[in-house]
Amino acid sequence: RAKKGNQNYLFYSSEMNRRSLDRIKLEAELHHALDLNQFELFFQPQIDLPSKKVMGAEALIRWRHPQKGMIPPSNFIPFAEETGLIVAIGSWVLNEAISQIAEWKKAGLKLNRLAINLSALQFKPQLPDELGAILSYHKIPAELVELELTESLLMGNGQSTLLNQLHNSGFSLALDDFGTGYSNLAYLQHYPIDYLKIDQSFVQALPDNQHSAAIVRSIIDIATNLGLKLIAEGVETKAQADYLAQLGCHLIQGYYCYKPMSAENFTQLLIEQQGK
Ligand code: C2E
Ligand code: CA
Ligand code: CA
Ligand code: CA
Repeated sequence: RAKKGNQNYLFYSSEMNRRSLDRIKLEAELHHALDLNQFELFFQPQIDLPSKKVMGAEALIRWRHPQKGMIPPSNFIPFAEETGLIVAIGSWVLNEAISQIAEWKKAGLKLNRLAINLSALQFKPQLPDELGAILSYHKIPAELVELELTESLLMGNGQSTLLNQLHNSGFSLALDDFGTGYSNLAYLQHYPIDYLKIDQSFVQALPDNQHSAAIVRSIIDIATNLGLKLIAEGVETKAQADYLAQLGCHLIQGYYCYKPMSAENFTQLLIEQQGK
C-alpha cells in the first residue's frame, strides 16, 4: 500500500516537473515571439440583430507557434502581464489592428469600429500619444477604434484624466466582461464609457438560468438608464440571441454568428456583405 502511494507521488511529481519545464520553455519562447513575427490577429464580427449586418469587430491575438500550432491568448497573456512583456505585445497589437483598418479602408470596405483589448499595464499617460502617432501614420480617425477596458483597470487613481483624454480624442470606450468585476457602479456615472460588454458567463446561462437572466436584465437596465450602448458577448444559440434582442440588446458577438477568424476570412466576409 505504502509503496503504491509512493509511486503515485513520484509519478505525479515528475508529471508536474515536466509541465513546469514546458512552461519555462514556452515563457522563454514568448520573449522572442515578437521578433520572430509569430503573433497574428484574428477578428470576431459584432453583429446587429435582426439585420445580421457586421457593425464592428474585436481584434483577438493568437500566437502561431512553429511546433505547437495556434496558441490561444489564455495560455500566454497572463504570463505576458506578469513579466511586463504585454506592453510590447500590446503595442504590436495596436499597430497591427490599426494598419488592418487602413487596409480595409484602402480596399473600399466599411467597418464602423474595430475593438482592441487593452491590458492595465498599457493604460499609462503615454498611451494617447502612442495611439495618436499610429493613427496619423495610417491616416485613420480615432472614431474607428474602440478600446476595451476591464473594470479593475478603472479602479486605479488618476485613470479619469486618461479616459477623458482618450474619449475626447474620439475613441470609443467599452467595459469588457461587465458584471464580473467590482460591484461599485458609481464610476459608470463619472467615466466616459460608451459600451458595456455583457460577460459571456451570464449570456451563456440564458435563457433558463433565472439568476443569470436577472443579472442580464439589470445590466440592460443600468445601460439604458445611463445612456450606454450594449454588446452581448459569447452568444452561442438562437435562444440566447432572441432573449437578448427581446430585452433590447441588439449588438451581439459570439459563435452563434461567427467565431474569431483570420484577417483574410474577415476581409472575405466584408466583401460578401458589401457586394464589392
Ligand atoms: P475577451 O476580451 O473577453 O474576449 C472574448 C473571448 O471569448 C475570446 O477568446 C473569444 O474567442 C471568445 N468567444 C467569443 N465568442 C464566444 C462564444 O460564443 N463562446 C465561447 N465559449 N467563447 C467565445 P480568446 O480569443 O481566446 O481571448 C481570450 C482573452 O484573451 C480575451 O478575453 C482577452 O481578455 C485576452 N486577449 C485577447 N486578445 C488580446 C489582446 O490583443 N490584448 C490583450 N491585452 N488581451 C487580449
Ligand atoms: Ca475583449
Ligand atoms: Ca470579454
Ligand atoms: Ca475576458
